Amino acid sequence: MQFIEVKLPGGLPGNGRIERRARFHSLTGRIEQALIETGAAADQVGYVTSVLGTVLASIGETPADPERIASLCVADRQYLMLRLAALLEGEQMWLKVTCGRCESFFDVDLRRSELPVKPAAEGYPLVRLRLGEHEVEARVPNGGDQERIAELPDDQAMLQLLQDCICSVDGQPPATEFSQELSPREIEELDQALDEVAPAVCDRLQVVCPECGHEQAAELDHYAGVRPGENYLYDEIHTLASHYHWSETDILDLPQQKRRRYVGMINRAGGVSGQW
Ligand SMILES: [Zn+2]
Repeated sequence: MQFIEVKLPGGLPGNGRIERRARFHSLTGRIEQALIETGAAADQVGYVTSVLGTVLASIGETPADPERIASLCVADRQYLMLRLAALLEGEQMWLKVTCGRCESFFDVDLRRSELPVKPAAEGYPLVRLRLGEHEVEARVPNGGDQERIAELPDDQAMLQLLQDCICSVDGQPPATEFSQELSPREIEELDQALDEVAPAVCDRLQVVCPECGHEQAAELDHYAGVRPGENYLYDEIHTLASHYHWSETDILDLPQQKRRRYVGMINRAGGVSGQW
């Protein structure tokens, strides 16, 4: 079994170290089928956890179970979704933009591998800072934190996130009221400290509308994910099964690239189903 290894911009803390290696399973038809079946989810955070659970083999030396995937920081999860998109669709992508001024649609051509990625800074995933009279230790938010606040209104979500990410106050577990009593300026300071240490994946690009010349920021949503085309997969299975008489099981176990190569050969030879 082949694996595809990537280096996480943050990494998973555990056993006194940060594990930065993650491995994807080889992308077989079976994995693509599982991705198709994961389908569109209203809950985007949960969707990302289940997609990554399907495609990831391990984080460090240990299998990538849902709990560990949820414990990855937000940027690591975005980075893995970006790499997955590149594995499924290639590095080239077209970002669809609607101009904020003239409302015309245009595409921006970019390469996924060229999107800037900022690695975590020293101290990740923790920050220590002084807020008023207190020494506070907090950690960078992860997928599990995002999942817990997904359904909450914005102001409550912010408070809950602070509560979950503050690990200690003056060396003691924080009292529930602590995060509620922080001033907007203290929250801002904490947020900034976390931003400095956290890794980040570029999710905003400056683009210029070709129609009206308006310069604007376009957002990239790495969590939106990629869904392999269902018809495409089943067409390819059908072509191979008809031509070589292989079983569906065997075809689904082929890595995507190999499957496409065989399909390409059949197509070039002009032979589609049942011609012999
Ligand atoms: Zn425009």
